[in-house]
Amino acid sequence: MSILADARALDAQDPVCDACLGRAFADRSHGLTNDERGRSLRIAAALDDDEPYEQVETGDCWVCEGLCDTFDEWAERCAAEVEDVEFETYQVGTRTPPLIEENEIMLREGAGLDEEAGELFKSEFNREVGKRVGRLTDTAVDFGRPDVQFTLDLEADTVEVDVHSAFVYGRYRKLERDIPQTEWPCNDCQGSGYIGKQPCEKCDGTGYLYRDSVEGLTAPVVRDVMDGTDTKFHGAGREDVDARMLGTGRPFVIEVMEPRRRRVDVERLEGDINAFAEGRVEVEGLRLADYEMVERVKGLDASKRYRAAVEFGDAVDTAALAAALDELEGATIEQYTPHRVDHRRASLTRTREVYAADGELDDDTHATVEIHGAGGLYIKELISGDEGRTNPSLAGLLDVDAEVTALDVVGVYGEAESFEDESFFRDERGESASDVGASESSGATDTVDDASMDDSDPVDDASMNDGVDTE
Ligand SMILES: [Zn+2]
Ligand SMILES: [Zn+2]
Repeated sequence: MSILADARALDAQDPVCDACLGRAFADRSHGLTNDERGRSLRIAAALDDDEPYEQVETGDCWVCEGLCDTFDEWAERCAAEVEDVEFETYQVGTRTPPLIEENEIMLREGAGLDEEAGELFKSEFNREVGKRVGRLTDTAVDFGRPDVQFTLDLEADTVEVDVHSAFVYGRYRKLERDIPQTEWPCNDCQGSGYIGKQPCEKCDGTGYLYRDSVEGLTAPVVRDVMDGTDTKFHGAGREDVDARMLGTGRPFVIEVMEPRRRRVDVERLEGDINAFAEGRVEVEGLRLADYEMVERVKGLDASKRYRAAVEFGDAVDTAALAAALDELEGATIEQYTPHRVDHRRASLTRTREVYAADGELDDDTHATVEIHGAGGLYIKELISGDEGRTNPSLAGLLDVDAEVTALDVVGVYGEAESFEDESFFRDERGESASDVGASESSGATDTVDDASMDDSDPVDDASMNDGVDTE
């Protein structure tokens, strides 16, 4: 049948509005709305038949029950819902009443057309309301992960708004020991602060084992500035509670839920956080990031550079230390799962490379040692030998007892590439930078060529998992 014949057959089921008529031909002639298609076909059929043209009021349409006349109204409701929310991108979804879906099929079947001819009612609704929302709010549609998701429930007559998280990337330094990365609920009272009706003795009723955390010293500031409801802290691994994080710092992302502000001045935010953290924690290199940055900081293979204060059981001389460190540099270390973690992890022997090893004696029995190793290298055991479970080790090579008395992480570096890839950042208006084409990486993090086989960070994780001080 010709398109005019099809249109006549649909129109015969009077009254069908222009949009509902045109929707059955939505795959024809781009650049028209369904409403324009329907009206044009009705006019063309009237001319062809030389019959009077009769306009159908959308409000009388039995298929959409007049809903095709309400695009403007729904768009205005959407815009009103987000009047005080900053966003750049949105998406509209529609829940179609089942009755209307049935009407759509009946209309097509009644005209002898395929029941899926053209497009779905909800596709048109999403698009037509979406276009209007974009115009009203001066924002762009994004079918991937928009800042704001509108869901129109036509039957319930509601607009649901999901304001998706915003993300701030940066690197933190932890300048004091005994600060966990994330808030650490007390395991006696499960974070409630109470045992029965009594305040928990272990945590003094605070619910936390430590007063401060990197998360607690940073995320609340970001939440306030972005006017969000909650936050989540995502770190690129984590150091022991008793280790400091110095040097170039550790990459992290703070996720802010339901932010009302996205276009924040990150330099000012950096200053605010550093003032709030009062020198216990410092952040730098803050950037607005896309949600993919969370996966990147959590998943990118990273090497670590450590600085360890080492105590020896016997006197060691400068030449012997230099020779032992030379031996370790470039060595592949075999490590059987350490005593301190093996009640939590399956025991196995793993191999990890030492990229660089330097150090000097402070006196006969003390040294400061810097080790740059692949992710997952157990540093305390590399020094001590862990009763023969790690080979080679500094203790083994020197043939003396050796123990780490204080440990700092001084660098966390992407193994194959920098964490700071421009395509994961947004500029300060809250727009994604990925279409700007910039790709120059910041020089803030080094990279090394050797890719780690494993991105886990067991030294970093160990004390967090069991709540036991690992030193
Ligand atoms: Zn209709
Ligand atoms: Zn407690």
